[in-house]
Amino acid sequence: MFPEWTWIVGLWIGMCVGSFLNVVVYRLPRGLSIWQPVYSFCPGCKHRLTLPDLVPVFSWLVLRGRCRHCGNPIGARYMVVELVTGALWAAVWWATLSGPHTMGDPLKAVVLSLFVSALVAAIFTDLAHYIIPDQVNAFMLLLGLGANAVTIAQGRPEAWLGPLPSSVAGALTGFGVLWGIAFLGRLLFRKDAMGHGDIKMARGIGAVLLPTMAVASFGIAVALGAVFGLLAIALRKRQPQDGGDEEDEGTEEPETLGSLLWCGLGYLLCVDVLGLAAPKVYEKWFGENPYSTEEFEDEPRVELTMIPFGPYLAAGAIGAALFEGPIRSALEAYLRSFQGGS
Ligand SMILES: [Zn+2]
Repeated sequence: MFPEWTWIVGLWIGMCVGSFLNVVVYRLPRGLSIWQPVYSFCPGCKHRLTLPDLVPVFSWLVLRGRCRHCGNPIGARYMVVELVTGALWAAVWWATLSGPHTMGDPLKAVVLSLFVSALVAAIFTDLAHYIIPDQVNAFMLLLGLGANAVTIAQGRPEAWLGPLPSSVAGALTGFGVLWGIAFLGRLLFRKDAMGHGDIKMARGIGAVLLPTMAVASFGIAVALGAVFGLLAIALRKRQPQDGGDEEDEGTEEPETLGSLLWCGLGYLLCVDVLGLAAPKVYEKWFGENPYSTEEFEDEPRVELTMIPFGPYLAAGAIGAALFEGPIRSALEAYLRSFQGGS
């Protein structure tokens, strides 16, 4: 139904979306509006950017990573975000529209393209500022619920899972797993085991991927975290000891159980999502304004050992979205061997 070169269109649209994601990654953690000003500007000289500055990837390469107006260096991150987003869109369009083993599913192509875009924004804000913006998490949840509403209207079998629409079940699963880990970690080890942004993102991942694939994505995230965590420890051993940060960790009090329970109830009822439209409600429930930038750090000290769990969670979700077919058949084969053996 779709010609083979469809993925090239996806690549190009994805790179343009990546250009927009750079705006999201820059502005949301700083409490700035995405839509105002509607044009992009250079962070160095605030000069308004025009078409020659805005061609994805190519502008950065042609200008050799410098602003055309003030000559300030522009981080390679801008080009990387555009390239990664473009590559992911191309992969999604290949997997859902024009690849050899696909029926051509435009709804899935649109939903997964938007989903991986939100995950890219989450990865880069988390890496740069240790923040996953509420807006990004809310977007994922609403995307999943909206897509499921359409599949219910189309009468597709995956839209329902027992008595619940699948995306609601998925959101509950994602929230439940991550919040449960946070709660147990706090209860048993008196430690903050999971960031609140991770819990909210898992809820959105569940809403889009539905329960089974959401749990599979968490498995991929844990595996990625283990591999890179061990790598980080190995690299750290070679560096001279400073011994400073271990004491830092000890001085910070873990969150109270009451706060974890209360915030968890808030996430379950989506107060953080509704609260984006009603900041007063958000502030009453969580004790802070959703648009406050109190926790914002412009240049947090970035160490390899400090990589938060959020990027792994997002990378796992991207993996599950792209490789749903192979993962599902592997799971089914595993379950069948289980039944055959007993
Ligand atoms: Zn400039």
